[in-house]
Amino acid sequence: MLVYMSKYYLPRGMRNATLEERRQFYMQEFSIAKVQGWLDLLKGKVKFAAVIGRHTKIYPEKYREDTGTTIIIDEYKGLDEVQAYLTEFLPEAAYYDRNVYDENDRKKGQELAFDLDPENITCPIHGTLADKMQRHQGLGFCEIELDLVKEQAVNLCEHLEEQFSNMEIVYSGRGFHIHVFDPEAYAFSPKERRQIARKVKENGFKIDEWVTAGGMRLIRLPYSLHGLVSRVVVPVEKSELETFDPIHDKRCLPRFLGSSATS
Ligand SMILES: [Zn+2]
Repeated sequence: MLVYMSKYYLPRGMRNATLEERRQFYMQEFSIAKVQGWLDLLKGKVKFAAVIGRHTKIYPEKYREDTGTTIIIDEYKGLDEVQAYLTEFLPEAAYYDRNVYDENDRKKGQELAFDLDPENITCPIHGTLADKMQRHQGLGFCEIELDLVKEQAVNLCEHLEEQFSNMEIVYSGRGFHIHVFDPEAYAFSPKERRQIARKVKENGFKIDEWVTAGGMRLIRLPYSLHGLVSRVVVPVEKSELETFDPIHDKRCLPRFLGSSATS
């Protein structure tokens, strides 16, 4: 079988957002009210982060030096100020910090999360992650991988329900995140987190261990724009996950794609 392997392959309709599209999104579409709804699930004051153009190499000229930097946004009065930063930086990605800090900025816990990405799925066409990396396609993914990663998210959620009761699933733009808000999960030690990550992997789930173990504390901000694929990061109910279609679902289509996105 001959398969054309471009450097960067994505499902139908997914593509990098331009700077102007990022501007439109953060000025007109980014919903502070929805983000606030998510923050209400969290504990304490949240730090945000932005990456301008690490993967897309699309960045405002004045931020050329910082295009690959993770910019931490922790000095802000309200979410309107966070929105102003995002409108200024026009990032390809926006995150929040899962760490919970005390008044003296010391870490006192961390939200537990599981990250399922399509590139970790072994695809009948594109192969394993190692195959993809070898072709420098580590960030690309296809519709088969998207479907398989969704199936993993459903199954992982069911698996985690044996231990946890307060969870949210988020479509991350590429794959899915499962956030755990059970109070005891915040208190897990790094060792306990590593054990949980290992067990979940042993059960066949292709998670990014670094996220669950806590080494990567940032996670994509719900309701932000995923600039690599032009999709809005949105929470999804577990009951609708099986039929959720991020290629067409209006909740995750930014307005700048227009009506052509769903045809
Ligand atoms: Zn594939």
